[in-house]
Formats: sequence, structure tokens, C-alpha cells
Amino acid sequence: MRREDGAAPAEDGPGARRPPLRDSATVKTVKGNEEMDQDQVRWRIEVDRLACAGTGLCLGTAHGRMRLDAGRARPVDELITPDDGVMDAAETCPMEAITVREAATGEILAPLR
Ligand code: SF4
Repeated sequence: MRREDGAAPAEDGPGARRPPLRDSATVKTVKGNEEMDQDQVRWRIEVDRLACAGTGLCLGTAHGRMRLDAGRARPVDELITPDDGVMDAAETCPMEAITVREAATGEILAPLR
């Protein structure tokens, strides 16, 4: 907001705009449009079972998050709390069979091509 004389408001003093104080547990989502508590963020793991070659590499990278079923990978749980191991698994899968999305928006988080 401009003052009557057209000048921008001072950084300090009356009329100065300050960003609202944020709770340290509040984070921006990857998309950046909404703020939500870190505990509320969920990722969705998808595996293209036709593309999966059954190497088992992701079971070690995303420890406890993936399993083999009939020779192909499946997520143990499709909706998870953020986990760097899952991101690494999606980035390193030789078949690019794993996709990690932000559950609320559907935005692809990994792999980034
Ligand atoms: S790393 Fe990729 S190809 Fe290998 S089992 Fe996991 S999803 Fe399948």
C-alpha cells in the first residue's frame, strides 16, 4: 500500500507490513499454493507393474516401503508420509516404473525427467 504522497511504506514503524508469524511446524507444500502442517502431507506411490522388471532394487532403497508381489514391485502402502528413500527409489528405478506424487495435488515429485 502506498502512502498519500505515493511513497512506499517504511520498512519499520506504523504502516509497515510484516509477514505473519508462522508456526515452525507449518510448511509450504511443494506446489507452494497452500500451507499445511507437515504431519498432513501425504505422498502417493504408484508402480507401473508392466514396466517393472522385478529387480528388487527399490526394496533396498525405499526400505520398508516396497515389496515384491508375483515378481513385480508394489508399495506396502500407497499413501505415505514424506520419505526421501521413496524419492531415491523413484529416481533410481532402472525402468522408471515408480512415480511419487503429492497426494493432495497429484503433482509428480519423482522422478523428475
Ligand atoms: S527398482 Fe523398479 S524395476 Fe526394480 S523392482 Fe523396483 S520398481 Fe521394479
